[in-house]
Amino acid sequence: MRRPAIRLEDERRWGDLRAEMVERQLRGRGIRAPEVLAAMGRVPRERFVDPGMLSLAYDDRALGIGGGQTISQPYIVARMTEALELPRWRVDHGDETPKVLDVGTGSGYQAAILEAMGAEVTSMERDADLAEEARQRFANLGLRIVVIVGDGSAGYPDAAPYAAIVVGAAAPAIPDPLPDQLALGGRLVAPVGRREHQWLTLVERTVEGFRREELEPCVFVPLIGRFGFAEA
Ligand code: SAM
Repeated sequence: MRRPAIRLEDERRWGDLRAEMVERQLRGRGIRAPEVLAAMGRVPRERFVDPGMLSLAYDDRALGIGGGQTISQPYIVARMTEALELPRWRVDHGDETPKVLDVGTGSGYQAAILEAMGAEVTSMERDADLAEEARQRFANLGLRIVVIVGDGSAGYPDAAPYAAIVVGAAAPAIPDPLPDQLALGGRLVAPVGRREHQWLTLVERTVEGFRREELEPCVFVPLIGRFGFAEA
């Protein structure tokens, strides 16, 4: 069914769609952290989708953003963000701003959600065109997010250690260099498994070492790089 077009400037309509997404797709499916629900309710997803897909911006699914890449489904962005437990980091670290590495900038939506959570975000993208588009979006929205073009499967040691690392593309295993770039108490979330389907996997750096937990099944596009998959 074809939906009536909404103009990008029609903030009220977008606000209503965003509020409905938060209720149905997020709270309705178990996302509880108030900071995550608030961030997802604030960031204008319509500004991160392809203009030709504007009417689908708040649908319960991933959408194409060009070059065979996608902006992830809202629920999975919320689930990954919640698993990073950034509010707990602040409590445990005297309100210190958490530094977060976002691997796979794509549209920049996940990075924008992390920024809305009060994080200092460095985002890595291997595709220079997508990286430039995301930089433009961040500039238009007044978001201070650093975008680095490069292979995020090796992380970004220059800005480490991180309170959190989120990987927005599927890897065959947790990329070797990433856990070591976490600060003590830091958390990493990544889809790990085969090209066709994966498990959302959490790694936490504790005084005893690294604790690993599988959260739920998921499907992501592949992380292509030295510690990811080979280019097909
Ligand atoms: N987080 C993104 C968003 O909010 O729109 C969605 C990420 S998209 C599902 C996966 C992205 O990872 C693609 O843009 C792809 O080019 C990028 N990617 C794949 N392998 C990468 C690598 N080794 N380093 C950095 N980015 C990579």
